[in-house]
Amino acid sequence: MHNKVLDGIDLSFEEAILFGGVSGVDLLDLVSLAFKVKKRYSKDLHVCTILNAESGLCWEDCSYCSQSSSHNTGVSVYNLLPFDSVLRRVEKAYEMGVRHFGIVTSGYGYKEMSDEFRTIVSYIIGLKKRFPDMEICASLGVLGEETAKMLVEAGF
Ligand code: SF4
Repeated sequence: MHNKVLDGIDLSFEEAILFGGVSGVDLLDLVSLAFKVKKRYSKDLHVCTILNAESGLCWEDCSYCSQSSSHNTGVSVYNLLPFDSVLRRVEKAYEMGVRHFGIVTSGYGYKEMSDEFRTIVSYIIGLKKRFPDMEICASLGVLGEETAKMLVEAGF
């Protein structure tokens, strides 16, 4: 089965599910296999990363979410990061070969236009100028028509 994986041959569902049962020292074989796959196919890999640009502070109460201020989860809490900080993360990711960068913010979203939303869009425009071959995407919660349009106009 290891050779099949390394040769890029699709596993059957039954074969693939066996990997989920690997435990103990056999996990090291799995890690080694993952490393070999990465080494062999790294030029074909699409690598992306995300940045939590605003964390915690959400007044909503989604029961599964660590960002909700209703739950004491110990998650880092901070307002929207300044542009320089976002830029540094993107630069670092770019140097590491990442070409798809996602910006995530906690909170219900931007159904109405706001200064914060305009700031995020200005970040995106700034990042796209600096890194034209980097795809920038975002997960910003619920949008309204005006905010969605603004994202489209910014090149989303
Ligand atoms: S609205 Fe989003 S950030 Fe807020 S609690 Fe729900 S899932 Fe979490």
